[in-house]
Amino acid sequence: MLLVVICGGGFAWLILGGKAEVEPIVEDFLARLEKQDYSGAYNRLGTEWKSIDTLEAFTKLEKRMREVTGPLQSRELEGFNIQRATGGSIAVCTYTGQFANGAGSITITLTDSSGSWKVVGHRIDSPLFIQVLTCPHCGAVSQSLADYCPSCGKPMRPDAESSPHQTESEQAAQD
Ligand SMILES: [Zn+2]
Repeated sequence: MLLVVICGGGFAWLILGGKAEVEPIVEDFLARLEKQDYSGAYNRLGTEWKSIDTLEAFTKLEKRMREVTGPLQSRELEGFNIQRATGGSIAVCTYTGQFANGAGSITITLTDSSGSWKVVGHRIDSPLFIQVLTCPHCGAVSQSLADYCPSCGKPMRPDAESSPHQTESEQAAQD
């Protein structure tokens, strides 16, 4: 009986300990994005993301997301989940956010494979993205902010640059 109580307490402590480790990293990452300190935010990324997006690509993606949502006005932690494994741990933080242009749900994914937590995903789910994710030419809805439509290959925006191979990396960054 006593053993059960100790185990239960230990388990709860592990979960709370994880949150205390992870939350400051997420807070710092989001604060840097809010200040538009993109290189500071990039320094919080794990190799999983950095190997896909350069600082330039990351900055472009984050700026584009900010363009759509407007600045973040308030946010509240909605969910926290941590999975520990011998090969590395993964944590997912979900916030409900109020942006200048509307509401959205913010998901930050982190991994800990080398003793420190790093951000490997930043996603905003919001109806604000429906219009920018819908191709003006064919009407296909893409899953990520791409310069070119994955269905018809035409520019998603009039001012899109002329390098049509951004979709893969931006897809990954959204995950
Ligand atoms: Zn299209």
